[in-house]
Amino acid sequence: MLKAATLMNVGPATPNLGLADPFGRSITYLRVSVTDRCDFRCTYCMSEHMTFLKKADLLTLDELERLCSAFISKGVRKLRLTGGEPLVRKNIMQLVRNLGRQIGHGLDELTLTTNGSQLARFADELADYGVRRINVSLDTLDPQKFREITRWGDFSKVMDGIDAAQKAGLAVKLNTVALKGFNDVEMPSIIRFAHGRGMDVTVIETMPMGKIEEDRTDRYLPLSHLRAQLEQQFTLLDLSFRTGGPSRYVQVAETGGRLGFITPMTHNFCESCNRVRLTCTGTLYMCLGQDDAADLRSVMRDGNDDRELHAAIDEAIRRKPKGHDFIIDRNHNRPSVARHMSVTGG
Ligand code: SAM
Ligand code: SF4
Repeated sequence: MLKAATLMNVGPATPNLGLADPFGRSITYLRVSVTDRCDFRCTYCMSEHMTFLKKADLLTLDELERLCSAFISKGVRKLRLTGGEPLVRKNIMQLVRNLGRQIGHGLDELTLTTNGSQLARFADELADYGVRRINVSLDTLDPQKFREITRWGDFSKVMDGIDAAQKAGLAVKLNTVALKGFNDVEMPSIIRFAHGRGMDVTVIETMPMGKIEEDRTDRYLPLSHLRAQLEQQFTLLDLSFRTGGPSRYVQVAETGGRLGFITPMTHNFCESCNRVRLTCTGTLYMCLGQDDAADLRSVMRDGNDDRELHAAIDEAIRRKPKGHDFIIDRNHNRPSVARHMSVTGG
């Protein structure tokens, strides 16, 4: 990993002109993985026996806030907290509350991606601190299959979490990873369930990130196939609606709801990428599908001031690559990116 920036001679503080990468893309979206830990062990995401980071390696909540604030003052307008499971990080509501105060002062939106297990406990607080929308990951509606795919998850807790979130006024979008032979036949029910409760749903192709027990090629389902399958029972109308992310949306005529497709493996969406990813150790990944990263924790822990931190961020953004090139090494079942998705949070 390259250490971020040579921190000498950074010159006078520059006015905020926003963050732009060498390909002219404005970086306005930061995803922050606040912990690598999780109370689930989804089979496509983690191995059952993960080795997690030591506490000393983690950014403190104050350090996470300082970094997020630096990005906001440099033009980031949307923050998404993720993980691991963000809601298992101790005292995470402190960070949510403090970042929520910046909504309307540089920040447009604070959101969260969660497995839903702790939502019943935190939904009201999230809403109180300014969160308006959350993504909940849900790959099946069958409690037994849910246990199988998450290994440790309890389906009824996630359902209670979704209920609590909707009751608190949060807009919920479901994220579903498409898994061949696992949930492909169930997808119409998931769509009907989501749309029946006023939730959008986005399906995601599995990405070859991090070593897991199973062979990913067994589970890989190209979304072009899934779409063709769905078109046998639904009328899918292409929408121009975009959330600024990589999802392509359709409206399902029969339900009136929205369905998104995220296709990193079959469609390259990098040309409009507006995002970078920060891990809970302060490592900034400029691309989900590449290994180059900047170590912002050292910049902070070496006692540098905000101007130097900003210079390190600028230097990192100048290295944002044009795009990713995920491939699955079918001969060796090797992931094309060694780190697990739980490091950068998707
Ligand atoms: N624990 C939270 C959750 O599950 O929503 C947040 C972190 S999780 C890593 C974020 C998203 O990444 C989830 O929707 C999950 O299904 C997805 N994900 C994890 N591993 C993946 C992989 N290898 N390919 C595609 N999506 C993956
Ligand atoms: Fe945990 Fe989310 Fe990964 Fe599942 S997908 S193991 S819930 S981080």
